[in-house]
Amino acid sequence: MGKKKSSFIEKALGRIDRLDSESIHAVVGRLAQERQFLETLFDAIHDGVVVVDQFGNVLYFNRAATDLIGLPEEGVLGEAVTRFIPSLDWEAIIDHENRGLSGSSTQEIEISYPRERYIEVVSTAIDGDQEGAAGVVLLFHDATESRKETYEAIESERVQALTLLAASVAHEIGNPLHALHIHLQLIEREVAKLTQSGDANSEIVLEIEDGAHPGETNSAERTSVQKLSDYLRVARGEVKRLDLIVREFLQAIRPVPPKLALEDVNDVLEQTLELMRPELEDRGLEVIDERCDKPAKALIDTDQIQQVLVNLIKNAMQAMTRGGQLTIRTNEEDEGISVVVEDTGTGISQDTIEKVFKPYFTTKKKGTGLGLMIVHRIINGHGGRIHVESGKQRGTRFYIWLPREELGPRLLTTAD
Ligand code: ADP
Ligand code: MG
Repeated sequence: MGKKKSSFIEKALGRIDRLDSESIHAVVGRLAQERQFLETLFDAIHDGVVVVDQFGNVLYFNRAATDLIGLPEEGVLGEAVTRFIPSLDWEAIIDHENRGLSGSSTQEIEISYPRERYIEVVSTAIDGDQEGAAGVVLLFHDATESRKETYEAIESERVQALTLLAASVAHEIGNPLHALHIHLQLIEREVAKLTQSGDANSEIVLEIEDGAHPGETNSAERTSVQKLSDYLRVARGEVKRLDLIVREFLQAIRPVPPKLALEDVNDVLEQTLELMRPELEDRGLEVIDERCDKPAKALIDTDQIQQVLVNLIKNAMQAMTRGGQLTIRTNEEDEGISVVVEDTGTGISQDTIEKVFKPYFTTKKKGTGLGLMIVHRIINGHGGRIHVESGKQRGTRFYIWLPREELGPRLLTTAD
């Protein structure tokens, strides 16, 4: 809006009584044009603009005022603005004016119609000819997003602080746990000695192996030594479980950036299978080894990829209670290596499959729900991809793809 234009109008208005009808026509036409221009301009603004008189009655409102604060399109003019926006503190606005404070005043209000929003309201007085304000311009700005961001920032700070605390607690638990483990072993040794030095005729069978079941003796025959060994077995099982929880928890909340090197994924698989062979054989599971013949070179952190494989194979074993097949497959792809870990176990139903990578999601009585989340994060940290295919009673297949070359910088945060 040029100053020239308004000065033309001002000049014309100043001598309006001396203008002929043609000139008045021109002035009115110009005014109408200007009004149209202003209206278009105000309707293009995303913030709500409402002009009220000194009593708070609406004189003008733009289109955004309808969209943002829900002013009806009809029946608003001449009505009190607080009728439509009850949370607006009109007293405060008037107070600001009455105290002769210049400039604008601001307030933040909450509205529930047309939807929940936080609105920042800036009010500025329009000076009239006489003393005092002729009215007030109210600017309504949607502050919902910025407020949400502030809250999220506070929330994430809080979560980070808590995570740090939890990590240190978990870490501290590690030491006594280790001591417990060692002392349980010592007790076991002593109990074993007791058995050996005991009555040669007694048929006490000590079962202190992990996962072994107590002997089928009836309770009357159970000796103290047997009972002791049973308790020990339970205690050791629980210590082992606690140890797993603490370890997985620490891995989950303290992601370590991978130390990448061009290594053979087939070798890592070989070592992992070797590591898990006793357990696989114990459960009578058949391993189908379909690794590609050539070296499967990818840019990997071998420890982390081993962790991935261990977690996947453990899950596969747990899904196959009554025998089954574990298939391991690798393939050389254009730009990386693909790895498949497949089982013939219970499978995952349609409604749970999307949750399996989420932290703490587990369907197992003694599960932590962290294994796959760690897997996911490690693969992401490698710039790779992972997905799962399964169906109830159809077995499960995990696909992993690992790049051979660095794919730009990777940022690893606790949030991913
Ligand atoms: P956890 O093993 O402690 O339960 P995971 O993150 O390793 O936690 O797995 C999460 C869930 O995903 C499991 O509880 C199980 O329901 C499902 N799941 C993972 N792998 C398999 C699989 N191979 N077969 C069937 N279900 C699986
Ligand atoms: Mg698991």
